[in-house]
Amino acid sequence: MAPGTTARPPPVPTYTPLVIDTATPAGFLSLGQPTARRLAIRSLERGGRASLLVHGPAGSGKAAFVDDLLALHFCDASITADRPCNACRGCRDARARSHPDLVIGSPEAWREDRSSGESIVAAARRWLLAAAGAPVTADRRIVLIEQADQASEQIQNALLKVLEEPTDRHTFILVADEPSNLLPTIRSRCQPLRIGAVPLSELVAHLMNERRLPQDQADALARIADGMAGTAAAYAEDHELLTWRRRVQSELLSLIERNRADRFGSVRDLLDETARAARPVADVMDEEVRTPASAQRRAATMIVEVWLALTRDLVVAAAGRSELAPARELVPGMEEIARRAGLEALLRAARRLEQVHAGLRENAAPRLALEAAMLDWPFLTPDERR
Ligand SMILES: [Zn+2]
Repeated sequence: MAPGTTARPPPVPTYTPLVIDTATPAGFLSLGQPTARRLAIRSLERGGRASLLVHGPAGSGKAAFVDDLLALHFCDASITADRPCNACRGCRDARARSHPDLVIGSPEAWREDRSSGESIVAAARRWLLAAAGAPVTADRRIVLIEQADQASEQIQNALLKVLEEPTDRHTFILVADEPSNLLPTIRSRCQPLRIGAVPLSELVAHLMNERRLPQDQADALARIADGMAGTAAAYAEDHELLTWRRRVQSELLSLIERNRADRFGSVRDLLDETARAARPVADVMDEEVRTPASAQRRAATMIVEVWLALTRDLVVAAAGRSELAPARELVPGMEEIARRAGLEALLRAARRLEQVHAGLRENAAPRLALEAAMLDWPFLTPDERR
């Protein structure tokens, strides 16, 4: 961060489920995803035998979609077309994730459940064995595995053995940000349900009706979130996250007038601070705890996404269409900087950030990746390049 700035780490986005009451309408409550809905309903109509893989980028709203899937499966309504009714006991317990026939696991949970001396692989195997028990009230038990793509290969192999022998009494639902991190043999045994961005108008209406935001705020949030329902909901719930984003963007704008050494120093501080906040989530990914590598990667990805959004807005502003840039309302001074930096330099910066973002997915070193982005961040005078 800039000298003298006291930085507070960003809150890690968390999911807050919608609360249903007697006024809640029947049907799916998550947004959009017509194809995934259709495939999920078809799978249920065929007896719910297939394992499902709910996948999509972080922030796309997978958790809300999974809530719908659970309600769809556990709803007491006898006709599939009436499900989920969102009024019966089955729907309520499913959405509260307290249904007696729902078992939930994740690499994070297995890590916490380890008995002393037990490895996370052994804990996962033990959990899978227990999950194979018979359902109590429903026809089928739902075995939900979150962050499945963060499980080690050994754990995935154990999971594969279970998926290879489907039963009439269990349905597996796997959730993953990056399905490519799953064994191909696991992917091929699951019905993929892809969750992605939703139309902005639908997201705005949802933020106004369900999250009680005024129209202008709903509009700005929907655009900031780029149509990602989960990200928009996290911002709506947690103003700290929005504050962090604004601060990271203001800092990036100010770096345009700083030299290379200042930029690298700022990037290092920002990365460390963000990684500290992302650490509890990232700890799960590494069996050899205390290596902050995955926390750093997650932090760098969060930062680059926020930078990229601002840079795209600067490009739009430099092209004379700043009314289309959501950051305009949040980051003061944006239009002036866009004019001074120039369209060409901003386009170059945006391309570099896109490369850096892709590189982080493919194991580029987080700090070096952010520093590389800084080399193509516009300099207002040639002297500053030194
Ligand atoms: Zn129901």
